[in-house]
Amino acid sequence: MPVSDQAFVTLATNDVYCQGALVLGQSLREHRATRRLVVLATPQVSNPLRVILSRVFDEVIEVKLTDSADYVHLAFLKRPDLGVTLTKLHCWTLTHYSKCVFLDADTLVLSNIDELFDRREFSAAPDPGWPDCFNSGVFVFQPSLETHSLLLQHATDHGSFDGADQGLLNSFFNNWSTADIRKHLPFIYNLSSNTMYTYSPAFKQFGSSAKVVHFLGSSKPWNYKYNPQTGSVLEEGSGRADQHQTSFLNQWWGIYHRSILPLCENIRTKDDQV
Ligand code: UDP
Ligand code: MN
Repeated sequence: MPVSDQAFVTLATNDVYCQGALVLGQSLREHRATRRLVVLATPQVSNPLRVILSRVFDEVIEVKLTDSADYVHLAFLKRPDLGVTLTKLHCWTLTHYSKCVFLDADTLVLSNIDELFDRREFSAAPDPGWPDCFNSGVFVFQPSLETHSLLLQHATDHGSFDGADQGLLNSFFNNWSTADIRKHLPFIYNLSSNTMYTYSPAFKQFGSSAKVVHFLGSSKPWNYKYNPQTGSVLEEGSGRADQHQTSFLNQWWGIYHRSILPLCENIRTKDDQV
């Protein structure tokens, strides 16, 4: 049964991150997500990409910081450095949903994750680099204008210790690491593609149950080159990627090639754009 008052939410502030959002949305569909699929898009996203987003997502919501409510505008003027971060916080304004799961545009869903909706705000998985902090690439939250304005207030007053949403959210939800173990998502819901091998026996034991892989850091799947004949990414020039990471990259590219590129071709021939 589809649940219409809950949603998976992601964010794209430009056409490049749209590629990630599209693959994520498609991966949720392929694994039969029963919640609505929502993407927040800023004005920098081009019209052709908006059209393609609307073919994969149920809702494409334009978020424009500069003419939003006064308190958002003010927060933005005081902390222009936190532009993308403040945009991500917009997800709390989706009050037509009772509960949502946010996923970064650089994540890929490997199996159905509807059970995340059994969790409550604020649930997230530990960050591999500093496990007393959560990673803000995957989290369960409850939209609320009150929480949204408290978050913005926190951002204007304290900024963010890492300059991004993760630092801000960790200092706002600062009892996450100790208060309630049910709010700790298992690592398989936010498996970092580039750091999991620091504990390789654990990866051997649990890696195959991964449900969400997160391509965090500077080299994103869309930065690689892909050979559709062999179905694998090309290694040269893209830094060293080990075998497991390569297999996740190949899965990302498989979806992109099979399901997203055809949507783009369509647009190109129709409107001669993109
Ligand atoms: N994002 C975006 N445009 C940007 C940077 C980030 O839309 O220029 C969004 C996107 O959803 C992305 C998220 O913000 O997944 C967090 O950024 P990123 O994934 O690059 O950070 P990391 O996970 O590598 O720390
Ligand atoms: Mn990310």
